[in-house]
Amino acid sequence: MPIKYIDDVPNEELFQKRVFLRLDLNVPLDESGQVADASKIESSLPTIRRLLRANAKIIIASHLGQPKGKIRSPLSLKNVASYLRDLLDNEIFFVHDSIGHGVIKLIDERKPGEIIFLENLRFNPGEENDDPVFAKMLARLGDIYVNDAFATLHRPHASVHGIVPYFPQKSYGGLLLKKELTNLDKILKHPEKPLVLIIGAAKINSKIGIIYNLLKKVDYVLIGGAMAYTFLYAEGKDVGTSLKEDDKVSLAQSLLKKAQDLQVKVLLPSDHIVADSDKSDNSIRVINNGEFLPKELGFDIGPKTIERFKSIIECAGSIFWNGPMGMFEDDRFFVGTKEIAQAVSRSKAFSVVGGGDSVLAIKKAGVLDKISYVSTGGGASLELLSGKELLGLKALGYYDV
Ligand code: ADP
Ligand code: MG
Repeated sequence: MPIKYIDDVPNEELFQKRVFLRLDLNVPLDESGQVADASKIESSLPTIRRLLRANAKIIIASHLGQPKGKIRSPLSLKNVASYLRDLLDNEIFFVHDSIGHGVIKLIDERKPGEIIFLENLRFNPGEENDDPVFAKMLARLGDIYVNDAFATLHRPHASVHGIVPYFPQKSYGGLLLKKELTNLDKILKHPEKPLVLIIGAAKINSKIGIIYNLLKKVDYVLIGGAMAYTFLYAEGKDVGTSLKEDDKVSLAQSLLKKAQDLQVKVLLPSDHIVADSDKSDNSIRVINNGEFLPKELGFDIGPKTIERFKSIIECAGSIFWNGPMGMFEDDRFFVGTKEIAQAVSRSKAFSVVGGGDSVLAIKKAGVLDKISYVSTGGGASLELLSGKELLGLKALGYYDV
């Protein structure tokens, strides 16, 4: 059966039922352990409210950080539960475990319309090991399963994978998941043309899959960031001591060849902001291709490249962007990323940005709210666009026809 979303489920089916709700509440905490950014909590509200309206008993499950199967009190979800309580103005019962008789008893004692919030799933090693026993014990907590944890769908973990078969005909996608998939589909399935793929960042390996998979659909690929140096090198250009991956040069060559065969235009930087490895102010300069000194590294795209990239972005129909154009964390190398972010925000195209650092970069550029869709799942959205089957989605029937 193909994936079914929670808004297609009639209220009667949810009424007074125990709903096991897997969320991604892996929020950043500040030094005092309080929620530092509530975006993920806010993104989960529509599904929680939908279930509350149906008078279901909600059992919220999430992970937080990397406790590696051990109880680590700084990674408790307690403060996240309190934050949610304040947002919803609803009583929330926090349990200091995620499985067992005590948890089941507490759930039984609560009334429909109430929320039970489980402790960090990853305190138990069974979660990340997709342990069938742990999955079965989690499954005992609910009558219905809802997954709204888009960012974890590519992970083979018990609460997103092993648990699902225990809910035949009763496992659903949440509203955030629906929103993510609908927006990413606009890039994957019938994109408004021309489709422009903007790719940057440091490592080729994690991104090459997307470029390959989308080559048949895209019209332009703009490559910036450190990975541009592997491509320039593959074209026989000198790149000084810029970050490049020697073992990926032939991959880059075959990708450029394939793009040529498919008549996809791949644009690489023609000028750069470079510096010595110590990044001292007086070593920073703007150069064209062919002007690298042996000791210099490229840290950002140069002004001519920015203009070339902007002219493509201006006439795009759809844009997918992953990966900053340079070492954007350092203001001296932020200009390329900032200008590209502003160009994307001004364009009339349907624009999607995915990836942890990419989202930070568009926030830093102050244009977050001018992007058509900002994906909450870095790895998950990249794997989806790479054409890989996401295990959590497969379990929900997404790939069934
Ligand atoms: P995302 O999280 O959006 O998927 P990545 O984590 O793959 O992006 O890459 C972001 C990182 O790439 C940033 O830390 C940025 O500093 C780095 N980066 C981009 N361009 C360069 C460059 N020219 N030299 C060194 N690091 C770079
Ligand atoms: Mg990153």
